[in-house]
Amino acid sequence: MKQSRHNFRPESLMMSYGYKPELSEGAIKCPIFQTSTFVFKSAEAGKAFFEIAYGLRPRAEGEEEGLIYSRINNPDLEILEDRLSLWDEAEDCAVFESGMSAITTTLLEFLSPGDLLLHSTPLYGGTDHFIRHFLAKIGVQAVSFKPGMEQSEIEAQIEKTGLAHKLGMIFIETPANPTNALIDIELCHRIAQKYSTSQKKVMVAVDNTYMGPLWQHPLKHGADFSLYSATKYIGGHSDVIAGACCGSKENIARVKMLRTFLGNMAGPWTGWLLLRSLETLKVRMEQQAKNAEIIAHYLNSHPKVEKVYYLGLIPKDSPAYVIYRKQYLSPGAMLSFDVQGGEAEAFRFLNALQLIKLAVSLGSTESLAEHPATMTHAGVDPAHRQEIGITSKLIRLSVGVENSEDLIWDIEQALAKV
Ligand SMILES: *Cc1c(COP(=O)(O)O)cnc(C)c1O
Repeated sequence: MKQSRHNFRPESLMMSYGYKPELSEGAIKCPIFQTSTFVFKSAEAGKAFFEIAYGLRPRAEGEEEGLIYSRINNPDLEILEDRLSLWDEAEDCAVFESGMSAITTTLLEFLSPGDLLLHSTPLYGGTDHFIRHFLAKIGVQAVSFKPGMEQSEIEAQIEKTGLAHKLGMIFIETPANPTNALIDIELCHRIAQKYSTSQKKVMVAVDNTYMGPLWQHPLKHGADFSLYSATKYIGGHSDVIAGACCGSKENIARVKMLRTFLGNMAGPWTGWLLLRSLETLKVRMEQQAKNAEIIAHYLNSHPKVEKVYYLGLIPKDSPAYVIYRKQYLSPGAMLSFDVQGGEAEAFRFLNALQLIKLAVSLGSTESLAEHPATMTHAGVDPAHRQEIGITSKLIRLSVGVENSEDLIWDIEQALAKV
């Protein structure tokens, strides 16, 4: 849909973009197209649809992709993909039944046996496991770097493997979960360019779950992919598992092709739930960020709290602050803090909460608290865990849309029990 006179912002388009009511009996909302297959108008039309879907010939001017079969495409998914593309200003997007399938499908499509993968640490546990176990098994070697490392140090890590010429992809997560450490996407783009050749482009993929799609736009900083667990902010109500991958038309066509054959696309019901969620995405996230700011400052002055890890509290004279100003539009709504003591004190706090729920996951309307060392990051090697700051006194909060005074009341009474 081209706007001739005015460029509407994404939040204004989330209710209508890409949907034509006249194709659905005038229904104002996109129905759930709960169907496995689609009727072709003629045998010739069916043949033409397959030629495009399987890339057998280039698309003619103005030729649209026809609806074939819900593993290949479905209106709920296509409209969702168009709307998700708007936030990152991406050319295209592919949606999946989980964040893990978005991540693994992208890694599998752009890496081959013998390749080297460079990634940041810490990574989401599921991603880390896939890289260390599955990719290793099929002959993809991985090498990691830490937030704060300089370009020369990262390049030294790559060179040490003896596989620099085989570097295929750089995969990063910024801010890192749960410590909120920042990684410079532009720096990763420079490294990718340096190791790219005329034969092979090194891809940069960013897991944007923590700050996207509102507050960080990786494609603008040179990334090729912006990946999501749509289970988190995009879904936003802790009631659906889903994922997405945004990027160029050319790259997403490859991701969608592998998705067709792995069969891990999102279903129409998942697509419909996310369409509904997208309508309130911006108001939810902004309210969550407002609440997080109040909580972060409250915790920062509390005598039983040793340290708060929050983007809005990064010291102005630190290198991380430069990345923060360049890459982020908000400090976000995820924060962590060290409570005075260790596991016993952290558990006392978590068990005393009355409004905030004790659960993993993040980005939802309700506030959630968890203990990374024994929960989300229990699988990380203990020495490595200590090194990256995931200690037994660390608590992670995902801030929701509740009244901030109620949240502060809950945190205050729970800290009093520590
Ligand atoms: C939750 C999460 C994932 C995995 O997504 P699922 O939807 O659970 O498959 C990946 N990366 C990050 C940062 C996450 O928080």
